[in-house]
Amino acid sequence: AVTTLSSATDGPAEMSLSPTEAFRHIAHAHHEIYALYDIAQTMGVSLGVEDAMSVIANKLRPVVPYSACALFLFDESSDQLRCRFATGADTSVMRDLVIDGGQGAVGTVARFRRTVVNAHPSTDYAAAGSRHTTALQSSLISPLVFNDRLVGTLAVYHVARSFYGDQHRRLLERVCEQAAAVVHNSALFEQTREDSWTDPMTGLPNTRYMFLHLTRELARAGRGDAELTFMVLDLDGFKDINDTHGHGVGDRVLQLVATRLRTAIRPYDICARYAGDEFVVVLSGCGREEADSKRRELHDAIEDVQVEVTPGTAIGIRASIGAAVFPHDGTTYEHLLAAADARMYQHKNTRRTGRPPFAGRHTTGDDTAGFPVPIG
Ligand code: GH3
Ligand code: MG
Repeated sequence: AVTTLSSATDGPAEMSLSPTEAFRHIAHAHHEIYALYDIAQTMGVSLGVEDAMSVIANKLRPVVPYSACALFLFDESSDQLRCRFATGADTSVMRDLVIDGGQGAVGTVARFRRTVVNAHPSTDYAAAGSRHTTALQSSLISPLVFNDRLVGTLAVYHVARSFYGDQHRRLLERVCEQAAAVVHNSALFEQTREDSWTDPMTGLPNTRYMFLHLTRELARAGRGDAELTFMVLDLDGFKDINDTHGHGVGDRVLQLVATRLRTAIRPYDICARYAGDEFVVVLSGCGREEADSKRRELHDAIEDVQVEVTPGTAIGIRASIGAAVFPHDGTTYEHLLAAADARMYQHKNTRRTGRPPFAGRHTTGDDTAGFPVPIG
């Protein structure tokens, strides 16, 4: 197979359409891609990358035939291209490919922002460290550039050798001019969607996400006659940590607590950062009996954490937790939050008396005192 940068010097492969016909198709495809995208956006359901690429790949197929089609998104910070969409042959292998800028055919296209024609697909597998032996024999890869910035590369592959010719190259480049904007917007949309659900400091879901999740789970629990536990957790004396050791240490404490909580709950439960040093935990299917032991478990998990403040010196973390159980303590978010919050403060007040904060490993002897309305 002959590989050329931006021009196919060996005779163009068979075209299934005449050039005029092909351009008519492509103009039509452009139109449809945009029309669909516009409809989706005006409906407020912006397409994610997967949806946008499904549309593009479908429109592309009649004009630039392929056995496989893949999108690689460019990550500027790592100078890497990550496969974000693949359809056709090798899909499962292709989806895992991550290729460094300048490496393989995909990396070369990205580096020089020029189309590469008929590189052997195995060069990209090798560049990504994959040992997969592929039936694909030729490729056509173009850069996606939007507002002068590289968005990624769009690649088509064929099982026939040297399948792609100059005509295909021009067609793919025309599609890429349009597709770059669509892919850029859909990637941005996904990022924004993710950001708007996540607390950047801890990586935990934020309050907005938790509220949606809880609403859904309460509805489900109501229908199925099931229980659900809602917990509020507030760190004790967190202001002192900031004041004594600095905000950097305070931030680290929040991150460690987040990690600890996330690993202490089941995958389908959620822990969210509520505000400042407050976290909430939603445990679906967790009833009165289990709620108290789970509360103690989370409590101990946090008080096990040691945070190094200077080399060789560590501080402990203390937290107060209150729990409320649906439907016994309330059936709405507001009621559960109020009940859990009140118990959390009772827990905190009881613990305040007698023991200075950060006095070392805390024993849980008085824990029930902070949970004065016994569950069960
Ligand atoms: P209490 O024992 O009664 O809970 O008091 P506290 O010292 O833990 O303070 P409180 O819960 O009332 O306030 C939380 C503090 O958390 C106030 C604020 O300065 C600090 N804080 C809020 N967000 C952040 C953050 O992102 N990073 C850091 N380092 N501190 C934060
Ligand atoms: Mg606090």
